[in-house]
Amino acid sequence: MWIDSHCHLDGTEFHGDLAEVLQRAAAAGVHAILVIGGGAAPGTLDGSCRLVQRLPAAPSLPRLRAAVGIHPHDAARAEPASLDELRRLAQAEEVVALGEIGLDFHYDHSPRGCQIEIFTQQLDLAWDLNLPVSIHCRAAWPQMHEILQARARAGRPAAGVMHCFSEGETEAREALDLGLYLSFSGILTFARAEPIRAAARLAPAGRILIETDAPFLAPVPHRGRRNEPAWVALTGAKLAELRGLALPALGDQMAENFARLFPRAALA
Ligand SMILES: [Zn+2]
Ligand SMILES: [Zn+2]
Repeated sequence: MWIDSHCHLDGTEFHGDLAEVLQRAAAAGVHAILVIGGGAAPGTLDGSCRLVQRLPAAPSLPRLRAAVGIHPHDAARAEPASLDELRRLAQAEEVVALGEIGLDFHYDHSPRGCQIEIFTQQLDLAWDLNLPVSIHCRAAWPQMHEILQARARAGRPAAGVMHCFSEGETEAREALDLGLYLSFSGILTFARAEPIRAAARLAPAGRILIETDAPFLAPVPHRGRRNEPAWVALTGAKLAELRGLALPALGDQMAENFARLFPRAALA
């Protein structure tokens, strides 16, 4: 049993064959999928909710849950009303987290100060709503750590997961010390990802998740193709190998961790 704890299904990449994608996920043992939202302004922030509502729930298909949030790429397009809209969307039954939110100083699609402002506003909102967060961090670890550490010291620690964790052992320990979970993507299977594999070995069993981040980051042997939730099983197999665990034991652990971090997902 696998759970894809972070993927994007509302893009054009899946317009043609989403039903088949979900069937393949079920066949690969994927039990649940957290669909990440996009958008920045009212009217565009509810894509993940609409997708989850639109797809029929069937016992034979993965359960779908939604996250809503403003990606750091889109921070400059956020409007004053965006936070109110997120607050409203977070009341929806299918919404179990805010995300993805964070900092991306690799692409710098939005000015850094603006990214920080929108990120911290969403952390405040998550705190108010008692919702966990799915955090994106690229080329911004020192700033990310500083923000999260300052909040923890001020008695407002973030509850959430560093999605697609792509740092090494030092950063893994820093995130774990802040109470965060680490989610590993298909990068775990890439040849040059030894620091990430080291992080995946050291993390406590109760603080790990796996994800596809589909349509991006397809694991080996599909690297370079459109990723899809079924392939979270390949990342799961790599993680089980790294930690010396049998697949069912790791799958059970991932499900337990997911349920603990996202209590509103109520998958049982
Ligand atoms: Zn991301
Ligand atoms: Zn993502």
